Amino acid sequence: MQDNGLQVAPQKSEAVVLTNKWAYRDPVFTLGGQQISVKPSMRTVSDMAALVLARMPPAHLLADERRRIGERKQEPTTVAVVRRQEREATLREWQVIWDDTEKAAWTRRMIPDIRRWVYQPNQEAITFHMAQALTGHGCFQHYLWKRRRAGDPHCMHCGEPDDTVEHTLFNCPFWAEDRREMEQCIGRPLQPNDVPDIILGPEQELLPDDASRRRRIETMAEGLRLAFDRMVEAILGRKEDAERVRQARLLFVGRRPNT
Ligand SMILES: [Zn+2]
Repeated sequence: MQDNGLQVAPQKSEAVVLTNKWAYRDPVFTLGGQQISVKPSMRTVSDMAALVLARMPPAHLLADERRRIGERKQEPTTVAVVRRQEREATLREWQVIWDDTEKAAWTRRMIPDIRRWVYQPNQEAITFHMAQALTGHGCFQHYLWKRRRAGDPHCMHCGEPDDTVEHTLFNCPFWAEDRREMEQCIGRPLQPNDVPDIILGPEQELLPDDASRRRRIETMAEGLRLAFDRMVEAILGRKEDAERVRQARLLFVGRRPNT
């Protein structure tokens, strides 16, 4: 434990508290003479999606990065260059883990490129509704039904059998008006595969050198991103209100949501 820069909380016999996340490596715990190692694969997938949304590399990758930087102290180059190179290596490793994950499929579809997401210019805090749109965790009947908070996964607006985040944002006819601005911007119905380019913006390396053309493309991309933000806020805000009404009605008639 101490080798990993970790401490055990005093007077705790049943819980081990990891108090130094920056120094985290795969620790080995001993319980009843049996060694138990904590592997990266045992960390939860929802944590991985949350880390991606927060643009925060997993702690064990950061610990490896810090070790590598320490090992390169004697190199005849600046610390800034070493740090930048090692962060690039960390992002490559993180991308491999992200690509290999079998779950968090929707978030991986929305944010397939970690490096582009982390270095996205003009970063803003992700809103509550945008987090729902990028994870599929929210006021979607499929999600609520899986967690026994809805009686079935049907869409309460159009009757589609499976109300997922994809159905809500892209297909449900009930929200057609809220998609109109976005559709006018791109000249056709919005599809899930459009989202990565919309939220990540243009790839900086591919932008033209000419300043005015560059600015025009960036302005257009920013307009698209803001239109997508407005669409998500409008749909998920109203959907959340409708879900509150549904829950209140169920309480009023004395039924549990999952019966
Ligand atoms: Zn629907």
